[in-house]
Amino acid sequence: MYIFYNRDLVGQMVDPLRPGDFNQAMMELGATLCSKTKPGCSQCPVSSHCQALALSREKSSVQVTDFPRVVPKAKPRSDFAAVCVVQIAQGLEEEAADPKGNDHLFLLIKRPEEGLLAGLWEFPLVLVDQGKTDLLNRRKAMDKYLSKLLSIDMVRKPDVILREDVGEHVHIFSHIRLTMHVELMVINLKDGVDRLCKKGADSTKLKLVNESCVESMGLTSGIRKVYNMVRAFKEKSLAVSEIGHVPTRKRTRRLKR
Ligand code: SF4
Repeated sequence: MYIFYNRDLVGQMVDPLRPGDFNQAMMELGATLCSKTKPGCSQCPVSSHCQALALSREKSSVQVTDFPRVVPKAKPRSDFAAVCVVQIAQGLEEEAADPKGNDHLFLLIKRPEEGLLAGLWEFPLVLVDQGKTDLLNRRKAMDKYLSKLLSIDMVRKPDVILREDVGEHVHIFSHIRLTMHVELMVINLKDGVDRLCKKGADSTKLKLVNESCVESMGLTSGIRKVYNMVRAFKEKSLAVSEIGHVPTRKRTRRLKR
């Protein structure tokens, strides 16, 4: 159906008091006469207004069924990212720590104010090349990113008490197919979170929030999915004692490579 292509014209046709009648009539026309492959133009009550019909009469090479023009969709590009859900224990003694890890904080980073998902909060995320999506390369890229951002020596990793690969999630945007490789990292900051951010770091671009805040805040569906993956992973794979308490040195779990 290609009758009304002009917004102003449609504005004239639609009764402002009963706009639904116009919509209903269009749906009725589409359902009964103006089918995509076999429109019944000879019986159509609006044929005198139909641009598709008029154009098809003007040029023999044009068919009414050529309209509306279908613009072929561009194939979405494939992007790959390392996403690290950084969970921070605040140096509490084991006895004082919440057994479920509710006193832990999550690190969130604000996306740039322009571009994809502008200004939204997400877990640390770094794009990686397609050929570098293996665990080693992803961790290398993430460590470099976090080292830049935080006052943590990601090379020696003295504060990292747990780091596990969680899995991957593919998120489809209109023009991007983003494969997110997700890992969980628990850091114990023995001297508290105050020293976490590097001097001069822009505090409006990163923040630490507790679990209930993450649960209630508005995250993109992709990042929400990542969070749910990590939560399910913790519930399924890790004993509460491994992540819920700040481990003593004896119980400290070293990074698996
Ligand atoms: S004239 Fe034909 S193409 Fe145009 S609206 Fe009617 S049925 Fe559809």
